[in-house]
Amino acid sequence: MREFGYQRAGDVSGAVALIAADPDARYLGGGTNLVDLMKAGVERPARLVDVRELPLDGIEPTPEGGLRIGATVTNSDLAAHPEVRRRYPALTQAVLAGASGQLRNMATVGGNLLQRTRCGYFTDLSKPCNKRAPGSGCPAVTGEHHNHAILGATDHCVAVHPSDMGVALAALDAAVTYETSDRQGKSPIADFYLPVGDTPHRETALPPGALITGVVLPPAPVAARSRYRKVRERASYAFAIASVAAALDVEDGVVRDARLAFGAVASRPWRARAAESVLIGAPADGTTFGTAADAELAAARPLPDNGYKVTLVRNLVVAVLTELAEEAAR
Ligand SMILES: Cc1cc2nc3c(=O)[nH]c(=O)nc-3n(C[C@H](O)[C@H](O)[C@H](O)COP(=O)(O)OP(=O)(O)OC[C@H]3O[C@@H](n4cnc5c(N)ncnc54)[C@H](O)[C@@H]3O)c2cc1C
Ligand code: SF4
Repeated sequence: MREFGYQRAGDVSGAVALIAADPDARYLGGGTNLVDLMKAGVERPARLVDVRELPLDGIEPTPEGGLRIGATVTNSDLAAHPEVRRRYPALTQAVLAGASGQLRNMATVGGNLLQRTRCGYFTDLSKPCNKRAPGSGCPAVTGEHHNHAILGATDHCVAVHPSDMGVALAALDAAVTYETSDRQGKSPIADFYLPVGDTPHRETALPPGALITGVVLPPAPVAARSRYRKVRERASYAFAIASVAAALDVEDGVVRDARLAFGAVASRPWRARAAESVLIGAPADGTTFGTAADAELAAARPLPDNGYKVTLVRNLVVAVLTELAEEAAR
């Protein structure tokens, strides 16, 4: 592991200035991903700027009626917040489905959004990997890929994004706020993660050196009836092999509003807009839910060993939407 310096930032502008002054420096949140990558030699920062004591640890109402979540709020505090639990239950469920209690106590919102893929080749320095070493190749396409992408991938990279929280945020139309040395910015989560294309090493639209300051959730009455369902290879402490975040508003048996996003199927949380357009205005029944899933999954391009995800996601969509529709009918 490379020797590195450590500094604790006291305010946002100080943190941003420290990073701007040193291209080899990285922000440190809970360290639960970055430090592992440093131990593996994938990340080799010369300096860490610890952001955990910045005044970004609040969850507050916005004037528009949504919620603003600070970047250094821990995953545990986010999941437990009464307003998040009441108004955006899928977000609480997604966060609680991730990692372990100890990790969630350390992990921050900003760090969770920027955690790196768990593709085994990415952390194996003896193997090529376009994401870690641009232009070196992608061995996963013909190698081990049973948990890789079925949507939106290219031959340059077929890795999936690992965050559970991000999937719920995608369904809820969240936006990420950030600050650089010369401006503040806001990026809807739909634009925050970049398509893979031929540059899988470029993962987000964040400007260089930007500090994530928070996440804004818009008001969304539909989100009060929302759910996150994750399938994994063991019951806890494991990343998703597929997941679904869904919100459904049903009146007189007809879908009035719907939000749907998939996890562990693409390089980014996958907002299922084709499925949503089938759902809205249609009868809230199993036939509609299956047709909606098929509309989204028509774009799936599975690899030889991950075609099971197409069936799995379809079944998850039908199951979760059926539960939400039954709940609405009670
Ligand atoms: C064993 C294990 C199991 C896990 N299981 C799951 C799981 O099932 N589901 C899941 O979603 N996650 C899982 N995780 C991942 C965990 O959720 C992430 O490691 C964690 O959320 C990262 O947050 P952090 O604050 O520790 O980030 P860090 O490790 O501190 O940072 C991650 C990245 O974000 C950058 N960063 C941090 N804060 C900011 C900021 N404010 N602005 C700009 N950049 C910033 C860092 O520079 C770094 O590049 C697991 C992790 C482990 C170790
Ligand atoms: S899938 Fe992406 S992360 Fe995995 S080896 Fe290929 S380029 Fe690297």
